[in-house]
Amino acid sequence: MTFERPNIASMQGYTSGEQPDGGEVIKLNTNENPYPPSPAVSAAIAGFAVETLRRYPQPTADVFRDAAATLHGINRDEVIATRGGDELLRLVITTYVDPGQRIGMTDPTYSLYPVLADIQGCPIFKQPLESDWGLAEDFARQLNDNDCRLAFVVNPHAPSGQLVSTQRLRAIADEFKGVLLIDEAYVDFIDGGYDSISLIREFDNVILLRTLSKGYSLAGLRFGYGMAAPSLITPMLAKTRDSYNLDALGQVIATAAIQDQDYAKQTWASVREQRVLLQSSLIELGLSVPDSQANFLLAGVNAENSVTAQDIYRLLKEQGLLVRYFAIDRLADKLRISVGSETENARLINLLEDILG
Ligand SMILES: *Cc1c(COP(=O)(O)O)cnc(C)c1O
Repeated sequence: MTFERPNIASMQGYTSGEQPDGGEVIKLNTNENPYPPSPAVSAAIAGFAVETLRRYPQPTADVFRDAAATLHGINRDEVIATRGGDELLRLVITTYVDPGQRIGMTDPTYSLYPVLADIQGCPIFKQPLESDWGLAEDFARQLNDNDCRLAFVVNPHAPSGQLVSTQRLRAIADEFKGVLLIDEAYVDFIDGGYDSISLIREFDNVILLRTLSKGYSLAGLRFGYGMAAPSLITPMLAKTRDSYNLDALGQVIATAAIQDQDYAKQTWASVREQRVLLQSSLIELGLSVPDSQANFLLAGVNAENSVTAQDIYRLLKEQGLLVRYFAIDRLADKLRISVGSETENARLINLLEDILG
């Protein structure tokens, strides 16, 4: 006897990247930032009055929302703070899509989207990406033709690191009849010249997702936010959000982190610098590595190599270094490698020289 709803009984849960307990492992598998959080975070924790935990937190994380709004030059009512970007994804689906209505996404994409769609009982429309991981020319028309109520676009794309221009996003938002969620989890690592914020003023169907997990080295905190027109933000803020979705300490930490832009920008610059070096080292080893605007590279293992991508994943793991392998169409001959610190990347290259040597 099962009490699960039929769609829950038949669905698969999300597979997280491996998180080993031991301290010796080098983790280049879940796109965490290789640098520590801002010193302002330690100061905020040290200065936190534990006594205040007696009370419920401010329900809508308004101090954080104000800090985010100031950072982006928008208003508080255009921002919602959420428990990681992942909570925003869940809120968008439960607020804007009825069970049975279709959700659009690219293939491949962030593997949490289909899981969340399954929970809500929503069928999925998948638009295959082009061979260079670009969006199909008629993406918006396809979304409309397939009656999608909501569509997810990761930008820069995961797992390829490809960037879609804001011009292109503008055209999609304009043509698409549903809600367009642009998942900007990796936006901080773009080389420059990308500014999507104006889209939320131009369109009432665009939501931007941001997270502190990658750019601010706070994956363990679980803090993210969404930006959109108030008509999209308010229903989630006032109705579908958990009444106290963010704890008091987390609100203080997240606020300190995004207010220390100087520090965050330094880590982003270091990641970008390491990304270029790592890419050229991987290419020298004979791997195919397209340019990436995120904090990871997608390395293709050519058929003439003596080992497969899966072999490499396994051999690296045996040596205490994790990368991400996806046994799915178009990715089975590739490895997604997070850009690590200089030392971590050097270790990876050393190991790969032995494996591919
Ligand atoms: C990391 C990530 C998120 C959000 O992650 P949280 O840790 O929940 O903030 C969203 N989308 C993509 C594509 C990601 O990689």
